[in-house]
Amino acid sequence: MLKVNLNQTSGFRTSELPKLVKALEHLELTVSSPEFADHIKNFRFNNIENFAYTEMSNVRVLNRVMTGAELLHPDEDREIDIWLKCFNPTLSQLHVVGFTYPNMDTQFINRSFFNRMSITEIAGNIFHEWAHKISFNHPFKYTEDRCYSVPYALGYFIAYGDSKIGAIPKRNFQDKLQDSEIFCSHVGLMPEEYGK
Ligand SMILES: [Zn+2]
Repeated sequence: MLKVNLNQTSGFRTSELPKLVKALEHLELTVSSPEFADHIKNFRFNNIENFAYTEMSNVRVLNRVMTGAELLHPDEDREIDIWLKCFNPTLSQLHVVGFTYPNMDTQFINRSFFNRMSITEIAGNIFHEWAHKISFNHPFKYTEDRCYSVPYALGYFIAYGDSKIGAIPKRNFQDKLQDSEIFCSHVGLMPEEYGK
């Protein structure tokens, strides 16, 4: 059982908040489901039970997620602590759905995507950014394997469910990724850069 704790929102219009609340409800329901835990335990990348871009075993990934221990808030409170800011994109941010930085709590979501995305996609993006807060990473630039990283793979699970992830052929996975390569575009944070 993992709770979602919304500490602060900023930049949202009052009319946008009901959608955010629904997304957070979906997020909490999904991460607390047995299917989510099973998905992590059974996740396979390159025919081995593991995720890309982490040395952790699936069981350790599951534990890391379930403790709710962010790098900036390492107490194991079993909560997904969220500080969320909605931003109006500049020209250079038009294709950025969301981003975050390792040294701050706040994660950012693009208003234009927020309004176009489904409730489950918003939930997936919020989890993706949060996964960075608990140490998981992926290359900044597109790679074939990036969708098998913890932030992408679990974000997609929350957004699209089991049918779209893991079990589906890699080809489709990539097609999905082309659509939303911009799912996250934070400032390139490989593990060695984290914690600096
Ligand atoms: Zn990311």
